[in-house]
Amino acid sequence: MIVGGGVIGAATAFHASRAGMRPLILERRPALSTLTTAAAAGGFRLQLDSEDDVPLVAESVELFLNFADLTGQSRYDPDVRRQGYLWVTTEEPRAEAQRAIVASQRGWGVPDLELLSGDDARRAFPFLGPEVRQARFRAGDGLLDPKRLTLGLAAGSGASVVTGCSVRGFRVRGDRLVAVETDAGAVATRAAVIAAGPFSGVVAAKVGIALPISTVVRQKLVLPDVPQVPASAPMTIDDDSGAHWRPVLRGASLFFTDPAVPPSPPTEDVPVDQGFAFRLLDPGSPVSVARVTPFWSEVWDWGGASWLLQAGQYTMTPDRRPLIGPTGVEGLYVNTGYSGKGVMAGPAGSRHLVDLLLERIGAHENPFRLDRSFGERPHVDPL
Ligand SMILES: Cc1cc2nc3c(=O)[nH]c(=O)nc-3n(C[C@H](O)[C@H](O)[C@H](O)COP(=O)(O)OP(=O)(O)OC[C@H]3O[C@@H](n4cnc5c(N)ncnc54)[C@H](O)[C@@H]3O)c2cc1C
Repeated sequence: MIVGGGVIGAATAFHASRAGMRPLILERRPALSTLTTAAAAGGFRLQLDSEDDVPLVAESVELFLNFADLTGQSRYDPDVRRQGYLWVTTEEPRAEAQRAIVASQRGWGVPDLELLSGDDARRAFPFLGPEVRQARFRAGDGLLDPKRLTLGLAAGSGASVVTGCSVRGFRVRGDRLVAVETDAGAVATRAAVIAAGPFSGVVAAKVGIALPISTVVRQKLVLPDVPQVPASAPMTIDDDSGAHWRPVLRGASLFFTDPAVPPSPPTEDVPVDQGFAFRLLDPGSPVSVARVTPFWSEVWDWGGASWLLQAGQYTMTPDRRPLIGPTGVEGLYVNTGYSGKGVMAGPAGSRHLVDLLLERIGAHENPFRLDRSFGERPHVDPL
């Protein structure tokens, strides 16, 4: 039984089903993939700031690239586009940091990394401004549609899905899980996985388990119709400010992971911040996307483009790595805490969870175990 029908619940169902189980997804909301996953940018990248994160994303990308074959369904195409991730800087200290991270990433076995001078970057991406001094780029990184990914995984799993069904608790006999309690009654089971995104801590607490996670609101600004946005553009990141945008629909979605936003309790109705649009679009703002991409100044000056705001919550652990594995209740597992990487790392993380569940991997081989010590890790990228 899988608690939660976002990308992590659907990916867990997919791998469980491939391993011969018959998964059941319980989703509290009226439809799958309508909380955090629906707000995601849909980016995937091997340009990461830690070697530890590379294997999960690399394995997930293989699934993205062979999605129809591996899921055996064609109803949902996640629209995978390998258009790259482009990180640009206007400042020499950042340019030096870019050279260092590219050298590290090459050492981690990540192929095809390009370090571009400002002029080379403008030749390849003519929308970049004259202040851009250097860029790093990997063409194999890319973009997808997180909602269709989730629905495709769920469809491919053949899982039974019950929407509008909230998990209220767990029935435990001795140390063993025997049933999941829902608002539609109790369902007997030998194994359940908490994949409730921002609510994973709330769900685990129902059986006295405290998860080391916090939740932080992240905003998404969508401008559905902006002719200046090249449909083939990569995810374009101002490496100095952290503001970034990707092409979507006939325009773009824009993001900024503001480090000043404090954690807040998990919520069903994640509040949007009206000021976010102005912070990203007004060329006078220090985190304006116009800083490195001048066409956004034109968009601002014209003033006629419509925009919409959406928000979701990152589910964070102290070391920004997921929590994947068994709990102290035999038969009860957790799969959450992917921070800003659940779409790109969650499919492989969910395969890992199923391998743990089937004891194909021993507890000592699990770097994501719930009781690990959470050391500090360098945090280089701003996403
Ligand atoms: C603005 C933004 C941009 C992002 N961009 C990216 C990106 O580019 N790439 C990337 O890899 N990741 C990105 N992420 C992160 C990614 O979205 C998340 O890591 C991922 O969606 C988490 O999926 P999930 O299934 O754990 O959570 P969710 O999608 O929130 O799903 C959890 C589900 O559990 C259900 N649930 C909760 N409680 C119960 C209960 N008691 N009973 C039954 N069901 C319950 C909820 O209703 C929900 O549907 C982004 C996140 C945000 C907010």
